[in-house]
Amino acid sequence: MSLGESRSTGWRDAPVAQFAVIGDPIEHSRSPEMHAAAFRSLGLPYRTVRVHVEPGEVDEALEHLASIGFLGVNVTVPHKEAAWRWSGRSGDGLSARIGAANTLRLATRECINTDGPGFVDTLESLPERALLLGAGGSARAIAASLEDAGVELTIWNRTRERAEALKRELDLQAEILDEPDLAGFDLIVNATSAGLHGGGPGLEWGVAKPSALAYDLVYGSTPFLEAAAARGLQTMDGIPLLVAQGARSLEWWLGVEAPRAAMLKALL
Ligand code: NDP
Repeated sequence: MSLGESRSTGWRDAPVAQFAVIGDPIEHSRSPEMHAAAFRSLGLPYRTVRVHVEPGEVDEALEHLASIGFLGVNVTVPHKEAAWRWSGRSGDGLSARIGAANTLRLATRECINTDGPGFVDTLESLPERALLLGAGGSARAIAASLEDAGVELTIWNRTRERAEALKRELDLQAEILDEPDLAGFDLIVNATSAGLHGGGPGLEWGVAKPSALAYDLVYGSTPFLEAAAARGLQTMDGIPLLVAQGARSLEWWLGVEAPRAAMLKALL
């Protein structure tokens, strides 16, 4: 079977390649096609494959991929914390602070987290006040990076204690809301997986600033973005973030500027 035909493999059957994206599930990941466009554009003979890794097997899988010559791994849900623990010694400031890594260099066990800085890269201008909905893995990276960039942050999460834990553990200034009140924010970020499961927070878009940007981490059109657009707000889906975090990972591995336009084109 050619790699082009292979949606994913288990880690024990991983083909020889230079880069992998691991997760559970992983079949949906669009990173390989995005990386392929980057490698083509840079004239590099590399490829990225999807590798399925079950919880509890991350260490063993990473050791195996390192032993068969993989250079780097992008890590997605639910393995970012396990990836950080595997690396242990040498993370960048953000991965150390949030205890989660999405980018690994296997030979040296170094890691970084490109989700937070990638998110900030996608903003045309920094908002003054941002509301973050969610307190999961991606919310942690985004919260830390927004506050570090000087944004006044407010967080709402379905489970309030998780938002409080996030604030405490990351030593944030953020205000925590009981209800997701959208009034007064320049940026409203949906970092919940609610849309994926059909449910989600009930939001009163009528009170949002007309100039606000509604940002959903999920790819494509979502009920969250549709409701915001219906109120005349600007919207952004998760594709620019996928490109920005992927570009930063490639730049860290390869030491050259990533061709963001080619990467984006591969996803459209
Ligand atoms: P986590 O599983 O770590 O967190 C899930 C979050 O969603 C929690 O805050 C959870 O709240 C909340 N949630 C789940 N269901 C509901 C619901 N029905 N109503 C309200 N809140 C709900 O996920 P991640 O942080 O890793 O990912 C979040 C989303 O972002 C996913 O959809 C993911 O696909 C997307 N994503 C996109 C990326 C990109 O490159 N574009 C990068 C990373 C993530 P609670 O604490 O109460 O359970």
